[in-house]
Amino acid sequence: MFDPSMVRNIGIAAHIDAGKTTTTERILFFTGRTHRMGEVDRGTTVTDFDEQEQERGITIYSAAVSCPWREFTINLIDTPGHVDFTAEVERSLRVLDGMVAVFDAKEGVEAQSETVWAQADKYGVPRICFINKMDKIGADFEWSVASIRKRLRAHPLVLQLPIGAAETLTGIIDLVEMKAVFSKDATGGALHITDIPEELVETARRHRNEMLEVLSETSEELMERFLGDEVLSPEDIRRAIRGATLRHELVPVLCGSALQNIGVQRMLDAVCDYLPSPLDVPPVTAQDANKPGVEHTLTCDSAGPLAAFVFKVVAEKPVDLCYLRIYSGTLKPNSRLLNTTTGEKENITRIVRMFAKRREQLDRTGAGDIVAVVGPKNSLTGHTLCDQRHPVKLETIEFPETVISVSVQPKSSKDREKFVEALSSLQRQDPTLAVSMNAETGQTLISGMGELHLEIMVQRLRTEMNVDVAVGKPRVSYREAVSGRAAGEGRFLKRVGGREHFAVVRLEIEPKARVDGQPNSEVSSVISQTAITPELRDALDTGVVEAAQSGVLGGYPVIDWKATLLSVEFDEEKSSALAFENAARAAFYDAMRRADPILLEPIMNVSVVTAEEYFGSILSDLNARNAVVRETQFRGQDRVILADVPLAQMFGYITKLRSLSQGRATSMMTPAHYAPMAKAEMQALVG
Ligand code: GDP
Repeated sequence: MFDPSMVRNIGIAAHIDAGKTTTTERILFFTGRTHRMGEVDRGTTVTDFDEQEQERGITIYSAAVSCPWREFTINLIDTPGHVDFTAEVERSLRVLDGMVAVFDAKEGVEAQSETVWAQADKYGVPRICFINKMDKIGADFEWSVASIRKRLRAHPLVLQLPIGAAETLTGIIDLVEMKAVFSKDATGGALHITDIPEELVETARRHRNEMLEVLSETSEELMERFLGDEVLSPEDIRRAIRGATLRHELVPVLCGSALQNIGVQRMLDAVCDYLPSPLDVPPVTAQDANKPGVEHTLTCDSAGPLAAFVFKVVAEKPVDLCYLRIYSGTLKPNSRLLNTTTGEKENITRIVRMFAKRREQLDRTGAGDIVAVVGPKNSLTGHTLCDQRHPVKLETIEFPETVISVSVQPKSSKDREKFVEALSSLQRQDPTLAVSMNAETGQTLISGMGELHLEIMVQRLRTEMNVDVAVGKPRVSYREAVSGRAAGEGRFLKRVGGREHFAVVRLEIEPKARVDGQPNSEVSSVISQTAITPELRDALDTGVVEAAQSGVLGGYPVIDWKATLLSVEFDEEKSSALAFENAARAAFYDAMRRADPILLEPIMNVSVVTAEEYFGSILSDLNARNAVVRETQFRGQDRVILADVPLAQMFGYITKLRSLSQGRATSMMTPAHYAPMAKAEMQALVG
């Protein structure tokens, strides 16, 4: 029987280059499922199964891999390491219960780690820290621990010390067991556990005492026993550490070198000992799919009604794989579930546990598990699959609006069908990608989160899906809005299909603020409910919503508005849904023209890390791009610039930055919000 207390659903988060891929790869190796160690530098690791990622050396797409360790099953959910893909990180955080934050011992806490840390705080995810690269020249354990305290405002609990540093690193001291841990040989497969070397005993004692002092502040019982000089067993200490970690009071800190196979097994032990099982996390709430406003609490119970959340779709030939987190109930193959997001029934034909290099078919699994399933046809990221008799909807995931688009066309017309299929597959897999047609030019547009995001999509079309495409220039996705309030009128009188259609609609439009950064537009009506039929009322709504898809300035989507339907004129004989829809659309445009329409442009959060000598020129270049610099920081030898910059100013930035810094600065960029454009720029754009 499936036992959730023996499951750990975790993710690894790290700043790019801190060693996430290497650590993951070592985990897969030590948990016995990979037969050969891959080296990142050669692009052969197991989680990066997208060709793309291997080329770029970054992990973009989340997948889940099961790793058996001791008597536990660790489900490792891949969290992408690049800030351009924060939405993907959020999606992973939604389904995992605990996190390992990996740091570079020479760099300490870096910009990306701060972002991910804040996201993990938002989702209440307990964490442990692994200070990696202790074998590197300049590695500084104490300084790295201090940076966790200072930059992340966390309370680190040091559980290990390195033995040696840089090239003399040979192993670690385990302060809980008071033992030294070495690898038996270079592959690190077997451990050699000994007494702590003589010359380190004093240091180890001091650190153990510090650890117990900090720990005992979180537990009265432990405090009494500690002050009473009682002997505390490793089990006592571990139990207290687990409690404090789950209560978010302390963050255990471990160290090692993934590359040299030092400390990874102990880190896996810590995952099992200190991070939560699905039973330790608060139950989730779900909406009743039939009764609006009614909520259900889903406890992690395999005997409950089935409810599962789709957090990733991976296209495979001939069928897609859907990754699920089961929140309640037992899942069996050959079952028919309800997708409450689409309202359609879906078949689950197979349940698959994914290991690094093999798959195992399961005949059942239960609440708390993460598995892949085969069968669903139209289930996408963010959808709920559940028992038909207990229809519930889990909270979906809000993805940011796209900010940039580019036109793509197959070079050869015989590739057309393959092209359409490839785009639809990319879109199923990546909810932050949008595909649309430009009505005027008939071109296909793909829209996404940034230049890099779209470049990756185009590359996937070309290499993975074998469609040779011609690509246009990337264009900023502007939005339109109104800055004032005004009424407008739309008339429709036309002969269509052998009869006259007639309607007049009056409506008022005004700005409406977003809620939590999410679009929040609304159609309301003061027209009496009995004045027109429900069919005509729906036609009015449809007309308005459709009109808002392309505004009056440049045909960009209109956001942040509220439209109030004021009155209609109609004729018993000639009024029709067609007439109402068209008149409503015309009324929306008329009102919008009068309500001081404005253009909004996407503003990006940009962070740049650079050596001091290039700081000045990078900063003045950013200023020339109309950046609003929020903060500059010192980080070790480096400087960090955090700024908000209009996306339109950031085209080709990576290349420019490379030439400004001789390749020694790095930058990251993610959509922040939409902001009104200055009048002059707006006029330059739309005339
Ligand atoms: P990621 O970007 O966080 O996934 O980092 P990678 O695992 O790709 O590692 C980035 C670079 O650091 C690679 O060249 C690795 O070989 C190297 N690296 C990873 N772990 C260690 C380590 O423990 N020590 C040293 N010296 N290098 C490491």
